[in-house]
Amino acid sequence: MAVSSTPTRSDNPPAARASRRPRGEGQWALGHREPLNANERIKKDDDPLNVRARIEHIYAHHGFASIDPQDLRGRFRWWGLYTQRKAGIDGGRTAVLEPHELEDEFFMLRVRVDGGELNLAQLRVVAGISRDFARDTADLTDRQNIQFHWVRIEDVPEIWRRLEEVGLQTTEACGDCPRVVLGSPVAGVARDELVDPTPAIDEIVRRYAGDKRFANLPRKFKTSISWLVDTPYEANDVAFLGVAHPEHGPGFDLWVGGGLSTNPMLAKRLGVWVPLAQVPDVWAGVVGIFRDYGYRRLRNRARLKFLVADWGVGKFRAVLEQEYLGRTLLDGPAPELPAKPIDHIGVHPQRDGRNYVGAAPVVGRVSGPQLARLADVVEAHGSDRVRLTPYQKLLVLDVAPERTDSLVAQLRRIGLEAQPSAWRRGTMACTGIEYCKLAIVETKARGAELVARLEERLAGEDLKDADISIHLNGCPNACARTQVADIGLKGQLVVGPDGRQVEGFQVHLGGGLGMAQGQTAGFGRKLRGLRTTAEELPEYVERLARRYLAGRCEGE
Ligand code: SF4
Repeated sequence: MAVSSTPTRSDNPPAARASRRPRGEGQWALGHREPLNANERIKKDDDPLNVRARIEHIYAHHGFASIDPQDLRGRFRWWGLYTQRKAGIDGGRTAVLEPHELEDEFFMLRVRVDGGELNLAQLRVVAGISRDFARDTADLTDRQNIQFHWVRIEDVPEIWRRLEEVGLQTTEACGDCPRVVLGSPVAGVARDELVDPTPAIDEIVRRYAGDKRFANLPRKFKTSISWLVDTPYEANDVAFLGVAHPEHGPGFDLWVGGGLSTNPMLAKRLGVWVPLAQVPDVWAGVVGIFRDYGYRRLRNRARLKFLVADWGVGKFRAVLEQEYLGRTLLDGPAPELPAKPIDHIGVHPQRDGRNYVGAAPVVGRVSGPQLARLADVVEAHGSDRVRLTPYQKLLVLDVAPERTDSLVAQLRRIGLEAQPSAWRRGTMACTGIEYCKLAIVETKARGAELVARLEERLAGEDLKDADISIHLNGCPNACARTQVADIGLKGQLVVGPDGRQVEGFQVHLGGGLGMAQGQTAGFGRKLRGLRTTAEELPEYVERLARRYLAGRCEGE
């Protein structure tokens, strides 16, 4: 693709432009270059990307005990590695134990799948790694990543070798850096897509994944680039959403400053129109602002959303144009939003006459053997392309119409359902206490249990077009986007019937994203009294669902 190459400040971190102040928010552009907390210190002491060489040459040979704690709990993340939670530690002890007491000697390894694109060779490599090194685990995340568990440090170099041989990587899959780029799972095939953003995603990954200029950001940086409203774009630090300009044609509407977790904020429109060829430069400009002006003093104020909230969109746009791009951006119209976000489940026609098929595992849990069988099924039906979605689901592209029914049937046989119940379709769960050191409650198994219960108990209900999203999180972080679900379940300890603290959830109701006028996007309401113990969760959600189904209005 033709991409402009205006020299920008994105290429060169600024020298201090103001005298150093004793406190403030730790913004580099205002002269605060000395680390103000332990995370900033780790990044300054050594570029986190450098840890790969130590893994390959030292740690993989000498084992877990040889790993420097600052690498282990800090820099490893830049290569997609987190220590995994030791089995058997209950959620009540999450906040009181030291990190080394919570972790075992195995790792979670996250593979970034930018735009969710996988071909058969890649799928088979992922399946093989899962089988050989990860005890068959391979979860689909809600950011189009794949997560392995039970990985040993000794095996990481071989895993990288296999992944990179087929064009996959774990580079900056985690850490304070630009992570996987979300993209439409139907980019390039959707009938209603005017511009395929894939060249911009590929260019951003080619130029900047593992680029030292952006390897030390104040915190994580999330991106979404899609023509359609089929990613949770408002929950990203930067999002490009397709829009047709009345004079200049198809391009992208730019949004900045979205993020959930604590202090959730939806991204805001800058009101500019960006043509495809300029997306990588504009993206780099936004990342540059975050690197230079982002807050680095407190971790819980270090996401871009806080800067956007303080500056407002007018100042953000002016700084982007004047300091980072050296030109003004064109004003642009707002995109038209559908009544609800698109998840692509089921059979849909592509613009070339073939079909794509969206199928649901349960709460994103698949296994290596299942992915290997998926590759065989996909190949047998004449396709080479699978896409992951940001809703823990997957798509098979390029299926001839006459082979579609057979594909749907064979997917069902391997546990991937293209005609799922509303409950299976709408339920997501984060990693939870099974592997996550921050977790307070179990999520995956509870999510699966919940889906099974609702399918069984509400089988006779007339669901019509009801789609109820249910998102389970294992702690107050928002990895499964609790706040923007119809029913958001935030893991916490609650008081059980006998007065003792037990696993439970705070309930958020009525959140949503990507909605048209009249169905405003927003966060679910968190009401103090709305809590349930984990044990009572299935019954609680069943009651909620029944009440909703009985009381909903026409078209709701
Ligand atoms: Fe872990 Fe909490 Fe994120 Fe779940 S929401 S994966 S428990 S940090």
